[in-house]
Order: sequence, then C-alpha cells, then structure tokens
Amino acid sequence: MSDLIITGGTVLTTDGPIRTDLRITDDRVSEIGQGLEASNVIDANEAWVGPGLVDMHSHLRDPGQDWKEDIATGTGAAAVGGYTAVLAMPNTIPVVDNAQIALYVSERGRRVGSADVYPSGCLTMGGDGERMAHIDEMWDAGVRVFTDDGTSVESAAVLRLAMEYIANLGGLVAQHAVDGAMSAHGYMHEGSVSSRLGMHGIPSEAEEIVISRDLALVRLTGVSYHVQHLSSMVGVGLIRQAKADGLPVTAEVTPHHLVFDHTDVASTDADFKMMPPLRSAEDRDALVLGLQDGTIDIVATDHAPHAPREKEVPFEHAPNGVIGLEWAASVTNSVIGDDQVRFFAALSSSPARIAQITDHGHAITIGSTANLVVFDPTERWTPTDSVSRSRNAPYFGRELIGRVRATVRAGQLTHGSTA
Ligand SMILES: [Zn+2]
Repeated sequence: MSDLIITGGTVLTTDGPIRTDLRITDDRVSEIGQGLEASNVIDANEAWVGPGLVDMHSHLRDPGQDWKEDIATGTGAAAVGGYTAVLAMPNTIPVVDNAQIALYVSERGRRVGSADVYPSGCLTMGGDGERMAHIDEMWDAGVRVFTDDGTSVESAAVLRLAMEYIANLGGLVAQHAVDGAMSAHGYMHEGSVSSRLGMHGIPSEAEEIVISRDLALVRLTGVSYHVQHLSSMVGVGLIRQAKADGLPVTAEVTPHHLVFDHTDVASTDADFKMMPPLRSAEDRDALVLGLQDGTIDIVATDHAPHAPREKEVPFEHAPNGVIGLEWAASVTNSVIGDDQVRFFAALSSSPARIAQITDHGHAITIGSTANLVVFDPTERWTPTDSVSRSRNAPYFGRELIGRVRATVRAGQLTHGSTA
C-alpha cells in the first residue's frame, strides 16, 4: 500500500478543519488537495480526518497477566478505537520500575503492536511507595511519564524526592489520586446509593486530600503534574484553581466517569466497579463541564481488562476497572458534541503533548508521519463485542454517537478498509 488517498473528509490542518483530500505515500502525508486519485481509497465522506488518537492510560497487562490482555490484543483494540499510540501503565507483573522492563514493553510494542506503545514507569520500586524507582535509567530508555497508577504515593517525602528528580529531567509525574487508607475498605462512591446498599464507600475527600497535598509539592518542586482519572466536583475545582494560579498541572477524565454515576452501581454489576468509583450525578456534570471549559485537558481510557471469571464474582470481590479503547472516541463525541477541534484536542494533540509522545497528535501537514484517524461523528452504533481479550465493559447494548471508520499508523491501515 505505497499510495493511499483519503477522500471527501474534513481534514484537521494547521489552518483548522478544511474539506479536502489527502495522499499518503509510504509512511508520510505527501499531498493535500482536491480531486486526488489512487487505487487505494479510504472514503471519508461526512467524516473527520485528524491525527491518530493517543491514549495516556492503557493497561496492556504485559508482562505478567496475558489472560486479561497482552500488547497485541490491547493495541488491536486501540486500533479499532482510532488510536495510533498508547501509554502503557507500569503496574504489570513485574512492574516497570527499571529500564529493562520499560525496554521490553516498547520492544514488544514494536514487534506485535497495532499502535505505537510507550511505557510509563513507576515512581517507586515495585510500586511500594517507599523506595524511589530507577528513574534515571528509565528516562534514558525513553520513559517520560512516571506513575504508581493503581495506588497513590502515600509518603509526601518519597513523592517530593521523585518529583525533584523528574522536574530536573523534564518528565511528568502522574498521580492515581485516591487516598489508600480512605479507600481500602470501600467498593463504591460514599453517598446515598452506598448507604442504601449498605456498602462501604469511598468519599470524594479521598481524591481531594491527595490532589491538595500534591499541589503543595508541585509548588515546592515545580514538576509537571497530571491527575489521572479525575472523578469528583471538588477535584475539578482544585485543578481549575491550580491552573488559575499558573501551576504546571493537567488532568484527565475517563469516558465512563463522563456518562455513568453511582446510581448505575445499584445494579451491583461488577462492570460498573472501578477506581476511582463512579460518583454522583453532580460530580459527573462537573467533569463534563470541566472537559468543556478546558479545566480537564484530555479523555484517557483507563482501559483495564479483566477476564470474565475474575469479574463474575460478588461485587465486593470483583477487581476494579473496565475496558474502553474501542469506544472512548464515541463516548467523548457523544458528550462534547459536534466539535472537531475539541475532539482532537482531548483525544490526540493534548495527550501527545502532555505525555511527550512526539510523532503523534499533530495537525496534518505535508511531510508529517501518516498517523491518522477517520471518524464519522454522526454514525449511531451499539457495541456488542470487543477485540480485547476481556469483555468487562458497561457499554454493550448502549447506543453511542460517532464511530471510527479507519485508522492509519505510519501509512499502514490498522483498522477499516479501502475501496
Ligand atoms: Zn488508576
């Protein structure tokens, strides 16, 4: 497929969205203009063409838990969802806390990935929250984002030290902002539904406390700081104020926190169990508003596969997390509405910039690497299955608006077909 054209779409260029065709030769965009012809054609009529999507929060489960997912199946789901790059979370088995494991993840991605795979690294050894990880050598291996995702770094002293190192290198500290002690025995949001079910809850303050403390450490160290899967109204308020104060702070929200709330958990269906938990409708509305007004920079999937037998247990015993790579773009589009610029900012250019993924997330120009997606913002569809190895998702049977028609990674079609 050395010469491929995408026709009839609205292309996100450096001058904004323009109705035009574009040609891809080998791995590059070679021509932008009207009336292009070639034997391989992707039909983008009525669709948006923009930079391939970039997910800042994927659990690919490799190494160590390939019954849930691996790098081939996880990036397969990413390609279906329009992603050309994913940031792999480091809480694998073993965790990514040194250069060797980081290099394994990126090398495995190069070999079997349908999307470019960028490893993130732990802040602490084994993710234990106590001893700083091999940050310098992971940096040399290309890691730019450091997080103990799955847990919050409890010790302010340890986090401060890691922040100083990472600020010095120019990297990003990303925080799973849920206080460990306050969430240890909770299964869902602490509120009216948890009271009714008699289930231990996790209050919004578990998020507020961690973000508040971390912002003090950001002031102290000057590090670039990113809040993962923001879940509460109070959390949104803290980020809004931090940005107004000029702090180098960014935040993400997951698709599920934008559309569901704790009343959905009343079913005790474990596909609604995640960390942080789905909170109140008021919290959800604040997250949507935060995404619309730019307080929240990006949508990140927190794609967290678990095998059916692991989720098909009583709610309290089920692991946290849902999969989301295949429909995150559709959910985001359903929430933010018909806005091509905002869509690609939230799902591509901003995550690429925040995670320092340089070859993705750019407006389309001649000569740039052809990492692209064709997205139809009006197609209505209902997810019924997944190419992920796992099926834990609350979206099956729910209608979504907008669908990925084709994904092109470095000039090669990774999803969709040509006419
Ligand atoms: Zn997390």
